[in-house]
Amino acid sequence: MSHPEPIQCDLMIIGTGMAGMAAALFAANRGLSTVQAGVSSEVIYASGYMDLLGVHPIEDQKLWDNPWAGIEAMAREIPNHPYALMEMEDINTALEEFISFFHENGIPYQRKMAENVEVMTPVGKTRPTYFVPQSMWAGVEAMKAQHRCLLVDFQRMQGFSARQIAEVIGNKWPNVRPARIRFPEGDKLTELYPEWMARKMESPIIREKLARIIHPLLEDARVLGLPAILGMTRTKEVVEDFANRVGVPVFEIPTIPPAVPGLRLKETYEQYISGKGVRLLFPKRIGQVQQEPDGAFLLTVEDTVSNDRVRSRGILLASGRFLGGGLHAGRKRIEETLFDLPVFQPAARSEWHREDFFDPRGHPINRAGLEIDDTFRPLDISGQPAFPNLFAAGSILAHQDWMRMKCGSGLAIATAYAAVNAFVKQRVDKDLQA
Ligand SMILES: Cc1cc2nc3c(=O)[nH]c(=O)nc-3n(C[C@H](O)[C@H](O)[C@H](O)COP(=O)(O)OP(=O)(O)OC[C@H]3O[C@@H](n4cnc5c(N)ncnc54)[C@H](O)[C@@H]3O)c2cc1C
Repeated sequence: MSHPEPIQCDLMIIGTGMAGMAAALFAANRGLSTVQAGVSSEVIYASGYMDLLGVHPIEDQKLWDNPWAGIEAMAREIPNHPYALMEMEDINTALEEFISFFHENGIPYQRKMAENVEVMTPVGKTRPTYFVPQSMWAGVEAMKAQHRCLLVDFQRMQGFSARQIAEVIGNKWPNVRPARIRFPEGDKLTELYPEWMARKMESPIIREKLARIIHPLLEDARVLGLPAILGMTRTKEVVEDFANRVGVPVFEIPTIPPAVPGLRLKETYEQYISGKGVRLLFPKRIGQVQQEPDGAFLLTVEDTVSNDRVRSRGILLASGRFLGGGLHAGRKRIEETLFDLPVFQPAARSEWHREDFFDPRGHPINRAGLEIDDTFRPLDISGQPAFPNLFAAGSILAHQDWMRMKCGSGLAIATAYAAVNAFVKQRVDKDLQA
């Protein structure tokens, strides 16, 4: 069904990835009427770990134990990196505000204030990150303390091997003993999927059955590791109850994407964000955008069956890079897909990539994106804000390579915070002038 009259709002958020989610939450928390649209959610590919800054400079592969010190160094050396436009205190406030939304809704996170921690990947390698789902925290501590660990995987579950993880992690954490077991009520299925298992684990009966299978295998293990299957939306409760039943702390390791930790974030967000007043139009694509004589934007929001129109006083563009759809690699140049904003990029296509795909410096294309002013407004070719009321956040921004710098979620959340606050300040200033 199409709405004859446009939906009116203060701020339209384009994108439902990490930056779009954070921006919608911040906007709602500041009392803005907010509409959000997105086609897909790349969040489902996330491991659940939230990086702040792990690596800088990329070419030296220098790892930072203290991400805040890393950001300070990086801001000095890459002054146009989006983090460099922000105060450290604001980055921290942004993370806390975002994380507390998930905490309140059953997905708590943990961190050490001034430290990156070492976490495990689905194949048993380790890497630094900052915020860790609480369901994975016991693994961080047990690895550091070198506790004896039983790590289980499941018959008929693909893509997660306790034996492989134990072998790969063996030089760092030799006390990991793998075991393969059956999952309660999984015998009749040809393949077990983590999402199905996570939903099953919300039942106390299944948890009890699984605890009884695991209990005799524990022997001297002081901690139990599992693939990420400990509940879908009530993870805190499931983890605590299951740990009580087996008698040792339990922790999860992310499985290959799309994995349960990303789905948890997506489902929890979708379930609770409307309670904050955000109107979520999903899955829907922004078709056209035009500016009205009074400066407001009129957007067409489409899916295969209906069109909505939204009239907003401002837009926050969080449409991501190539995977999300915010940037498109054309035959000759990289384009921004909605406003055709200028994209910072190498002069010629031949310079997008270095010769060696595995070059430790990464590729110039990875730093392509929108250049912004200090209030997070994308610039036009003359270097001025393209529109007074268009803001941008997340991975679409130029001068960052979030994947190699290990700053994906932190960058998305922090820049969303800065962009929303800039919009709020602009509105307040306008109202004061009126
Ligand atoms: C495989 C993978 C693993 C990751 N792992 C981690 C990790 O371990 N730790 C970490 O910190 N970060 C991780 N990240 C990064 C993080 O989750 C975010 O993807 C990243 O920070 C960028 O978020 P974003 O919101 O800017 O863009 P995206 O996530 O790309 O979102 C862009 C959004 O814009 C929407 N969009 C685009 N065009 C339109 C349009 N015309 N109309 C409507 N909507 C539109 C898309 O539908 C999408 O919702 C991972 C990302 C991926 C892809």
